[in-house]
Amino acid sequence: MLEISAKCIGCTKCVAVCPFGALSMSGKKAVVNMSACTLCGACVQVCPVEAISIKRDTASKDFSAYKGVWVFVELEDSEDLSAEGPVRKVSFELLSEGRKIADALKEELCAVVLAGKNRNYERELGEYGADKVYFCENPEFTVYNTDIYSAAVCALINKHKPSVVLFGATVKGRDLAPRIASALYVGLTADCTALSVRDGLLVQSRPAFGGNIMADILSPNSRPQMATVRPNVMKVSPAQSGRIAILVREDLKIDKNMRRVKVLRRKIDRGSGSMKIENANIIVSGGRGMKTKEKFKLIEELASVLGAAVGASRAAVDLGFKEKSHQVGQSGVTVSPRLYMAFGISGAVQHLVGMKNSDIVIAVNKDPNAMIFGAAKYAFVADAHQVLPKLSELLAKGLKRG
Ligand code: FAD
Ligand code: SF4
Ligand code: SF4
Repeated sequence: MLEISAKCIGCTKCVAVCPFGALSMSGKKAVVNMSACTLCGACVQVCPVEAISIKRDTASKDFSAYKGVWVFVELEDSEDLSAEGPVRKVSFELLSEGRKIADALKEELCAVVLAGKNRNYERELGEYGADKVYFCENPEFTVYNTDIYSAAVCALINKHKPSVVLFGATVKGRDLAPRIASALYVGLTADCTALSVRDGLLVQSRPAFGGNIMADILSPNSRPQMATVRPNVMKVSPAQSGRIAILVREDLKIDKNMRRVKVLRRKIDRGSGSMKIENANIIVSGGRGMKTKEKFKLIEELASVLGAAVGASRAAVDLGFKEKSHQVGQSGVTVSPRLYMAFGISGAVQHLVGMKNSDIVIAVNKDPNAMIFGAAKYAFVADAHQVLPKLSELLAKGLKRG
């Protein structure tokens, strides 16, 4: 229920931002048409005198109207502010996992895309399992904006009532999902590493207590059940060529005034000249055992020979050997390369959780009891400072000859 109090000064700001034309002026006061209002909350944000309030019926536990598993599809940022980039890999991971959840719940899997232009998303996302694509086209969506995106997604959720909504635990997902959860007054589990279904509920699993236990979190008292999921944790299912989702165009009225931040220029940081670890096929990673920033360069040399990305443990980052964007683990990035090479890393649980999905792990450590060996296919009890220069030299020669 939306209420407009006597504090209203008739400024008309709320009327301009309502995406559903639910507000109008009657004399000098704003009035709402509740049959058009989706409780998206956009008007609450702009009212200068806090005259608008939303009261939600939290007592009702009849969720039978809530159906469908939704994935918020994230698009890459581009330096050209007039065009969004391609779909991010995390969205395909979520669709692949969302497909299993939708099947278990016997519900539809739907993708939500906000973009300036449709680039055949029904085909691209359909191939990864989406039954339906809710597509909102507007030039205002080309550049991500918290206010505009959250109002749009809230409006869609209120209109279609999905039972589950998933976001990537990326910079955008971590910004957008909590805002939507708080606007809708529902729960949100951040940074999940596994999802499943139990008794019709979404089981949202994530590390807790510093990564020492896995917590299963349920949201039985609110809908939709919302979660952000770490990139590179879920596997992408093979694309089903020719599978096309139903495209549902959603016409949302977006007012530019909702945008409180304007992006004037964008420069994409490609990780200070080196490759990003998120999507790398090979990662050479170093830990505290590398001892100094100078010695850590041995890791960078091997990475450069192999065309690999450089990873680091949190201890190595804390010691200033490498920037935080290279940190692998629970409070860093989750990676799933073909090959992960760990030098001087003990293998604390918070590190393992970020790299355990790697296809092959090679570990070099002086301590024969190092935990990292438990995750390694090839374990070498050796001094990394001696192994690294020799390995770089041999591989450089071998690669040149080959
Ligand atoms: P250490 O544990 O000190 O291990 C150094 C290793 O180097 C030892 O095994 C030693 O035997 C070996 N070594 C020493 N010299 C040599 C040599 N010459 N040659 C070969 N081996 C040698 N950690 C992460 O990595 N990522 C995270 O995202 C992360 N998040 C965290 C979140 C929380 C909430 C908490 C509480 C902790 C987190 N940590 C994280 C920290 C984690 O618990 C460990 O402290 C950290 O991973 C240790 O880093 P390390 O293995 O480099 O150092
Ligand atoms: Fe319009 Fe949203 Fe306000 Fe309802 S809550 S009146 S839909 S802006
Ligand atoms: Fe009234 Fe607030 Fe709407 Fe302005 S924004 S017309 S003050 S309810």
